[in-house]
Amino acid sequence: MTDPTPTDDAPVCSSRGCRAPAVWALRWNNPRLHVPDRRKTWVACPAHRGSLGDFLEARGFLREVAPLPGSHTLEA
Ligand SMILES: [Zn+2]
Repeated sequence: MTDPTPTDDAPVCSSRGCRAPAVWALRWNNPRLHVPDRRKTWVACPAHRGSLGDFLEARGFLREVAPLPGSHTLEA
């Protein structure tokens, strides 16, 4: 039981198994499941922004990527 506990005010990367702080919001929509103006959001750390974005983009789901509000550690 030595796992660090993520704090509530620090969003954690949506990539499976990753606990890094997220600094990007990837907004996406699956046209087969969602109405056109619906947005799902994944959040990503710098290391996974590319892989998560590629996953969504390859399926035609990705709509926009934006820096997470409140992030002070953003590295472009
Ligand atoms: Zn990550």
